Amino acid sequence: MTRIDWWTAVGLDLSIDLANTAPDLDRPDLLLHPILQAGWRRRSGAPDEATADRLVDLRDSIRAVLVPVASGVALADPGLARGIAGLNRLAASAPTVPQIEDGELVYVARASPPDAFAAEVAAAALETAAGRRGRLRACARTGCGRLFVTTRARRTWCGDRCGTRARVARHRQTIDAPARRATQTG
Ligand SMILES: [Zn+2]
Repeated sequence: MTRIDWWTAVGLDLSIDLANTAPDLDRPDLLLHPILQAGWRRRSGAPDEATADRLVDLRDSIRAVLVPVASGVALADPGLARGIAGLNRLAASAPTVPQIEDGELVYVARASPPDAFAAEVAAAALETAAGRRGRLRACARTGCGRLFVTTRARRTWCGDRCGTRARVARHRQTIDAPARRATQTG
């Protein structure tokens, strides 16, 4: 199983990782918190030239497509057309070409580092949206909503931590409910 780092959310694919830097109830915005941003950049390979503003814009473009797809919206849905066109444009802006360098085959983008990074993330988002759409989900725990990919049809939480918290919350509800009724009638 892919290990998901709770705080940095790097470990799936680059587009999901970037989408999951968004703030939630437990965690600040990873791209706007200096230390967390530095950690995320190191792990994701985002170049220094890609400013936080630019990464936030890129994240918005990706979430505009992946979040609806995770909830079952079809790729051909007119509501997604603008978002998909944006990702198509970004992915095409810095195509990679195969080159042999120092005896090794490498794929090189003929673009500035931030453009190449944006194109790589956009391409990953297109691949995820089209290739993994039946397995892409948003965590069902209130206040989380992090995206994840699963092969288990019934999996609804992004990780063990959310699963445990959701189960505890549900358990609390079932033991609180009769107690509240007793107070009202008593
Ligand atoms: Zn979650």
